[in-house]
This record gives sequence, structure tokens and C-alpha cells, in this order.
Amino acid sequence: MNSSGTKGIKAVSADPVAIARDLLRCPSVTPAEGGALRFLEKTLKAAGFSVYRMTFQEPGTDDVENLYARIGTGTPNFVFAGHTDVVPPGDERAWKHPPFSGEVANGDMYGRGAVDMKGGIACAIAAVFDHLAANGGKPKGSISLLITGDEEGIAVNGTPKLLKWAAERGEKFDHCILGEPSNQQILGDTIKVGRRGSLNGHLIVMGKQGHVAYPQRADNPIRGLVTLIAALQGEPLDKGSAQFAPSHLEFTTVDVGNKTVNLIPGEARARFNIRFNDSHTPDSLKRLIEQRATKASSGKIRFSFQWEPSNAGVFVTKPGPFTDLVASAVAEVTGRKPELSTTGGTSDARFIKDYCPVVEFGLVGQTMHQVDEHVPIADLIALTAIYRKIIDWYFG
Ligand SMILES: [Zn+2]
Repeated sequence: MNSSGTKGIKAVSADPVAIARDLLRCPSVTPAEGGALRFLEKTLKAAGFSVYRMTFQEPGTDDVENLYARIGTGTPNFVFAGHTDVVPPGDERAWKHPPFSGEVANGDMYGRGAVDMKGGIACAIAAVFDHLAANGGKPKGSISLLITGDEEGIAVNGTPKLLKWAAERGEKFDHCILGEPSNQQILGDTIKVGRRGSLNGHLIVMGKQGHVAYPQRADNPIRGLVTLIAALQGEPLDKGSAQFAPSHLEFTTVDVGNKTVNLIPGEARARFNIRFNDSHTPDSLKRLIEQRATKASSGKIRFSFQWEPSNAGVFVTKPGPFTDLVASAVAEVTGRKPELSTTGGTSDARFIKDYCPVVEFGLVGQTMHQVDEHVPIADLIALTAIYRKIIDWYFG
């Protein structure tokens, strides 16, 4: 963060615009902390939170800083989760306003992370501070913030380890809102109540290398690969479930790597990704895919699969009082009835769901990861009002 980042801002400020601006000025591209967690620590401590800064590490990965903060010791413990890390800005000259400036123009605040998701964190903090100010500085139970610096990266030294650390020291979570930009077009259109899982695999077909003019002496693996790809793409994985669209397998590359015009290659490979719903686990999916390939090969194609490790399981929170509470708060502030959706990529909710029910609701995702990422000031104010209602009702 540049040194002007926190200067002139009251440590306890319930202004989401000021908090968002200060966060946007921290260049916290994964895995850099960039001053963002330092700013949160200072801000939350001044409001009476106990703040813990945790750095997690693992061989072969970058060390990543994380933060857990809690106010109150009673139950229930309501959690806001999020990440302060951002994807790189790309070519900074392509931006209308510098990506780490938090500049405001025509009612919009610009910066990398404006919607994904420093803006969401700013709204959560402002809402919590408002709630505390109206309730004598203490919640009826507890309010916690679970903030990682490793969401946009490989997510190894972030939320999973932070949750484990918290559980080991006896922290219990009752409900969680993850402030990812869940809305599609306009604030209030979508609450994410689940996400599909993701699994990557490689299909390798073995043949026999040979001269292209003497195919009888060779065994072209491309033929077998085409047969297996057609079979795996030809049959749906399922019909969808109560809350999810059908699972989907998509091939992403086919590689033979043969630069020679008169050579039949010895091996052919393809890579695929599966986005799967709650009808499957990664293991049941692997079995299904391998069975289908075995059947399609009719014993004539020599093949194998390699599976990449997956920490992207499916998450779903069933509709009930908690999703109703969030949807009602959204409706009260925006006048919109949000859709309960399970579309899109993975998020840290896949880890949080093992500890407590979680839903995702934040800003509008349209400019996330793009040049000129920005958030309307009006959305920051409305999202703060929504979060405030959620907390008031939750403890009310
Ligand atoms: Zn995000």
C-alpha cells in the first residue's frame, strides 16, 4: 500500500467507499499481501476485534498471509469470508484509471479488485461497524471475518488452512456469507447457493510407432483417441439434480506433438475438464469415465487416464431459513427477488461448506478480472445496507 493509503481515514469508519478505496490502493496481486491485510488488521483492531494474522506455507508453493478476526465470544458466530488478493492488472496503460488508485469517476470506483472482491469486504466491514455502533459496540453473539490472500491462486495456503487453524483453536462457525461478486447483471439478481465441482484429467492412448507408408506394421493411436473422445462426449454424465444443471465434460486440448510428415506416432493424448454437480464425487466420476472408456474401446484400444489432484468439490446449501433471510434482505433493499443459483466457477465456499452453511452474495461480477474493473458507488452503499439487514435480522 502506498503510505497515503490509511492516512486521513478514521480507523473506525463505517464508510464502505473509504474502506474500498484504501483496499484498492494496496497492490495485493496473489500471493502478495500488498498492505491489504495490514490495513484490515488496523481497522478491525480499532473497532474492538481480536485479529490474527496467519502465514501458511507448503513446499513448492508461495507463502501466503491470511487474517481471522472476531468480536464477541458468544454464539452464534456469524462469519463474513473473502479474499484480498487480486489477479494481475495486465497492461496498466490499458486502464482508464490506474488499477491500484481507487479513483472515482462518474459515480464508479476503479481498481483491480473493485468487485472481486475488495468492494465486498469493504461493505461487510462497514455494515458490521454500523451494526456494532447501534448495539453498544458488541454483537449479541459473535461476528468474524475470515480473509485469505490465496483465492485467485492455487488456494493451497489460504482458506482451507485458515479454517483448519481456526477449528483447531476451537472456533465454531454458525453461518457464513462469502462476498464474491455473485450477481450477474444488477445488484440483487443472484445469490449463489452452490457451485459445481471441477476435475481435470488426461486421456492417453498408446499405439505403435511406424512409417506412414506401412500402416500395417504400426498402430495409429489417433484412431483410438478419436473413438474414446467421441464416446466420452457422446453420453451425458447425468440429468442434473434438484439444484444443479447436468454435469459437463469438455475436452480442452488434443496433443500428438508429431512434427514428422511420414511418421505414425506412438502415443496420443487429450486433456479434459469436468464440471460436476452433487450427483458425483471426484472418485465416482473417475470410475464412471474409466468404465465408459473401457466399454467404448471394446478391448481393442490401449489407453490410460491420469487425474490431476482436485480440491474443487461440489458445494450446495439447501434452501431454508438462512437462504430465506439473505434473499429477504436483498429484496428489501433492492426490490428484487434474487435467483438461488449454482452456476459459475469454483470458489472458497467449497472449503467453508465443511464447517457451516455458506451462501455467496456480493457485488455484480461483470467487470471482474477485466481491464477497468469498477464498482458503482451506489452498489457499495446498497450492498452495505443489505449486509446490515442480514446482520440485524440474524441477531435480532
Ligand atoms: Zn473472487
